[in-house]
Amino acid sequence: MFPNKAIYLDHAATTPTDPQVVEAMLPFFSEVYGNPSSSHSFGRKAGNAVENARGTLAKLLNCSRRELIFTSCGTESDNMALRGAVMAAGGPCHILTAHTEHHAVSVTAEQLESLGNRVHVTWLPVDHEGRVTPDVLDAALRETRDGERAIVSLMYANNEVGTIQPVRELATVARVRGALFHCDSVQAAGQLSLDVQALGVDTLALSAHKFYGPKGVGLLYVRDGVQLVPAQTGGSQEASRRAGTHNVPLIVGMARALELAYADHEARVAEYRRLRDTLIEGVLRIPGAHLTGAPGDGRLPNHASFVFEGIESNMLLMHLDMAGIAGSSGSACNTGNPKPSEVLSAMGYPDDLALGSLRLTVGKQTSEDDIRRVLDVLPEAVAKVREVRA
Ligand code: PLP
Repeated sequence: MFPNKAIYLDHAATTPTDPQVVEAMLPFFSEVYGNPSSSHSFGRKAGNAVENARGTLAKLLNCSRRELIFTSCGTESDNMALRGAVMAAGGPCHILTAHTEHHAVSVTAEQLESLGNRVHVTWLPVDHEGRVTPDVLDAALRETRDGERAIVSLMYANNEVGTIQPVRELATVARVRGALFHCDSVQAAGQLSLDVQALGVDTLALSAHKFYGPKGVGLLYVRDGVQLVPAQTGGSQEASRRAGTHNVPLIVGMARALELAYADHEARVAEYRRLRDTLIEGVLRIPGAHLTGAPGDGRLPNHASFVFEGIESNMLLMHLDMAGIAGSSGSACNTGNPKPSEVLSAMGYPDDLALGSLRLTVGKQTSEDDIRRVLDVLPEAVAKVREVRA
C-alpha cells in the first residue's frame, strides 16, 4: 500500500516555491538587506528591487505601478478591500457577496455587518455550479437603499469547486449600478488572465503561494480613484496605504513567480487540463461519484472536485494520505464533528453529500503516473470508507 513517492494533489491549498523564485529571493535576505525606506545606498538598492517587482507585476496585470499595494497574503488583501471600502464610504454600505466566497471575504462581510447598523449584507444566490449570474447581481443591486455605498465582492474562481465566475459581466453590472467591484483572484492567478482592464474590476486580490511563489506575501490591485482607508497605519510605505517595512525578498519572489507563471502559461495550462480531465473521467467511473462545480472550460484548468455518496471526507482523506496521496475537502473536519461545506450547501447540495467532498488539484510536478496511481487507489479507498459507515 505504501507508494515510493508521495503524490501532492493539493495545489489549491498551496504550491511549492519554484527553485527559480528561491534563487531570485536569496540575495535579498543577507546581501541586499537595506530597508527600502532608507535613503542611503543600502536602502536604495532594496527600494529598487521593490519597485522593479512592482513594475513586473503591473505589466502582468495591465495596470499602473501606483495601483498595486503589497500585502502579507490573500486574506489581508481581501480584508483591506472590504474594510477599506466600508471605512472610506463614511456612511451606510450594502455589501453583496455569496456564501461560496472564501472566508477571507464572507467572514469579513459578516463581521462588518455585526459591528453596527451601518453595513448590511446581501448573500447572493448561486446556481448549482456555484455561479452568480449577472441578472441576479443586477436585481440585488437595485435593492441598494438611498445613500448606501454598494460594494460587490465576488471571486474569479472558486477554491473548493473550481468554477470560474463571469467576472467581466458581473463587473460591468456593478459599474453600471455605481457599485465598487472587488474580485478575490487568489485561485485564478497563474491560470487565467489577470488583465484588470479587460476584467473591469476595481480591486483584485492575489496571493503568491498559490502560483509557486513564497507564502506570506500578497497583492491588492486598487484602480486609480478608488478610495480605501488603510487598516495598517504608521509608516508611509505603499503611499501610506499599507504601513510596515516591505518584505523585500518575498515581494521579489512574488514578482518572479507571476512572471514565470505567465511565461509558459499556455503549455502548462493545457497540460493541467489534460491531467485534470483524465482524473475526472476516471473518478466519475466510481459508483456514486459526482463532479462538483462547472465542467470543462467552466472550471479552473488544474481543478477536480467531487462528492461521493455515503462518504465522510475526513475518512477518505485519511485513507488517501496513508496511500501517499494528498488531497483535501471542503468541510471543516478536524473537530470530530464534521460540518458540511458551506460552498456546497450554498450550491444546493444536501448535507450528506456535502460531507463527502474531495478536491484534487494538479500542479507543475504532477505526472500521468500520479493520476494513474490515484485512479488505482481511490475506488478501493471509497469502498473501504463506505464499508466502515455501513
Ligand atoms: N481567497 C481564496 C479564494 C483562497 O483560496 C485563499 C487561500 O486558500 C485565500 C483567499 C487566502 O489566501 P492566503 O492563504 O494568502 O491568506
